[in-house]
Amino acid sequence: MLEGIYSPAQASYGPIPGRVLFSVIPLLGAACFSYIIGKRIVPLLRGAADSRLDHAAIRLMRVLRFWLGQWKQPRYWVAGVLHIVIFAGFLVLAARSASLVMLGVSEHWVLPGISGTLGHWYGIAKDYAATLVFLAVVIAAIRRLVFRPARYAVPARYGRSHTAEAILVLALIAILMISESLFEASQAAFQQPLPLLSLAWIFRNALSSTPPRLLVNFHAGAYLVHELTFFAFLCFLPLGKHFHVVTSLFNVYFAKLDREALKPVKWGISDAQLEQVKSFGVTAFEDFTWKHMLDFYSCADCGRCSDQCPANSVGRPLSPRFITIKARDYAFQHYPMFGSVSNGTLLIGSIYSADEIWSCTTCGACEEECPLLVEYIDKIVDLRRGMVDGGNVPQTLQKPLKALESRGNPYGKMEKKRADWTKARDFQTSCTVSILDGKNGAETLYFVDSITSYDDRIQGIGRATAKILDHVGENFAILGAAEKDSGHDVRRFGEEMLFIALRDHNVDAIKASGVQRIVTADPHAYHALKHDYRDVPPVEHISQVIAREIKTGKLALNKVEDDSKVYTYHDPCYLGRHNRIYDDPRDVLDAIPGLERVEMGRSRDRSFCCGGGGLMLFYEPKEDQRMGVARVRMAAEAGANVIVTACPFCMVNIEDGIKVAGLEGKMTAIDLAELAAQHITCDGPKAICGQECVRV
Ligand code: SF4
Ligand code: SF4
Repeated sequence: MLEGIYSPAQASYGPIPGRVLFSVIPLLGAACFSYIIGKRIVPLLRGAADSRLDHAAIRLMRVLRFWLGQWKQPRYWVAGVLHIVIFAGFLVLAARSASLVMLGVSEHWVLPGISGTLGHWYGIAKDYAATLVFLAVVIAAIRRLVFRPARYAVPARYGRSHTAEAILVLALIAILMISESLFEASQAAFQQPLPLLSLAWIFRNALSSTPPRLLVNFHAGAYLVHELTFFAFLCFLPLGKHFHVVTSLFNVYFAKLDREALKPVKWGISDAQLEQVKSFGVTAFEDFTWKHMLDFYSCADCGRCSDQCPANSVGRPLSPRFITIKARDYAFQHYPMFGSVSNGTLLIGSIYSADEIWSCTTCGACEEECPLLVEYIDKIVDLRRGMVDGGNVPQTLQKPLKALESRGNPYGKMEKKRADWTKARDFQTSCTVSILDGKNGAETLYFVDSITSYDDRIQGIGRATAKILDHVGENFAILGAAEKDSGHDVRRFGEEMLFIALRDHNVDAIKASGVQRIVTADPHAYHALKHDYRDVPPVEHISQVIAREIKTGKLALNKVEDDSKVYTYHDPCYLGRHNRIYDDPRDVLDAIPGLERVEMGRSRDRSFCCGGGGLMLFYEPKEDQRMGVARVRMAAEAGANVIVTACPFCMVNIEDGIKVAGLEGKMTAIDLAELAAQHITCDGPKAICGQECVRV
């Protein structure tokens, strides 16, 4: 050992030899940690099955990206950078922590592989890592206590503030860094250099005139403090929100790979077997899958999901962060460290309210933001399945659901009127839309869906879509009365059996038609056909078709005549976030000469939901303002006076938002297909359609 200083194993702590003390502390710490983890695993063992063992290589790549690479952290750059520094510091210091534990029992211990030159460089790296972690922890504590970012606040209805726990953990980390650096500094005071300006270097200089005897005590004391804090910290982690330090690696590894596909009612149960399933969805905590329970444990309580959640923004009774926190609190309370388990409590009416669960538009903003890949939509849909199964459906949704069952559309309109939108006089003279009725065939199916078929205003989007397809020479037709609602939102409202009936009907009709591809102007239908249906031809959204045909030269758009118009594009959730189609609609706008386009502060993968589509139009949530109104105000703030979108439901919500915000006459909304159809020019490629150009 070094001259003048004892290793912890050789030191004495009163009557207790260091070697004995530092054998007992790790053993007790490890036993305590194992006991707590054992208790925490119990609910996971009782949870529902979840298939997450496939595609190991892809999962490992995602661990490298999202866990090791901390990919999503910089989306909130101050908190993100602080987290990356602490995380990277922990990784560097992990080897040092293991070495320190071993030094307590063996004075000659050197971590295998870290000696000689490598050990020298590792020593420098870990001294700077401890310094940076300490600084990051101090800044994080100041942010929490002084600047108090709004997203960390806990509204009264969700319980008490979580600041005390956050500060306690920051304090424990700071103690670990200080004690490790003091241990190093007191040893280095006898003989070795330290990295300039590191915490250990500062301590060594501060201790430069300390008598050797006192330095020995500092050395031994720093080690004891580090050892006790280390194991206290380890055992504290699974007791609160910092459990993510332990679980995040596993949570990222087992995270959902095909985020777009909704979870089946039960893993391993086919649609044909669903008739035999006794109960659908989640009603009690144990109905959640083990992975969803792991999500609850892994949430870091960073508040990013709720910060981005449109429902939370407009004052609906939903905050995704608390969907998780309340479930975790439930698990901790009902699966206690000591005493017996109490399970089976119905979640709706105890920790969740029905309104809370119906308030979600399934926009996906929460999942997009979460750095730990916590899933929300599947859980919310599972909770809705449980409510639907128990007959707990909001009054306003009962009529449209019945109409969907009997007529295949939520308005209760006649099937034979489904193609009436094609009969508008001005339109019919310029564009003929065939119906796939067995006599007429076509290469492309234009899947219209319910709102475009029946809503007077939205039918214009249908006509514009048909006009574009016609103009670019697409051999297309519609299903007419043989088409039923895509069922996209029926499924997300938890009515799985009704969805299956609608889907099977449409799949049979599509197969019988013999089409080779599908086009739709409705992102909800697009998503359903692409991800919820099986065995149907490839599907495209009309924005993709327009962008492509502009590039091929089949479609040219003429210039904007009114130069007072400033356009902004609103990304529909089911086109953008859920299907990553961000550029095609923007390319279309940019292909219109003279069009001035601005971006809203929240766009692309941070787009703000308009209020939701499908059955959301029939749901009347409690809220302070409509999402559509909030979105229209964002467009006004960006300096736009025309909002372009590419979804029929966005159109309804945004036009409604313009009226409610009192911006009629100052702001307008238009669908991308309508805008493109208005700007079709026949100067260039008119030979393709061979028809006279008219405005639709
Ligand atoms: S999906 Fe959208 S509305 Fe639902 S909880 Fe997430 S962010 Fe909120
Ligand atoms: S779910 Fe994710 S984004 Fe939301 S608070 Fe937890 S860690 Fe943060």
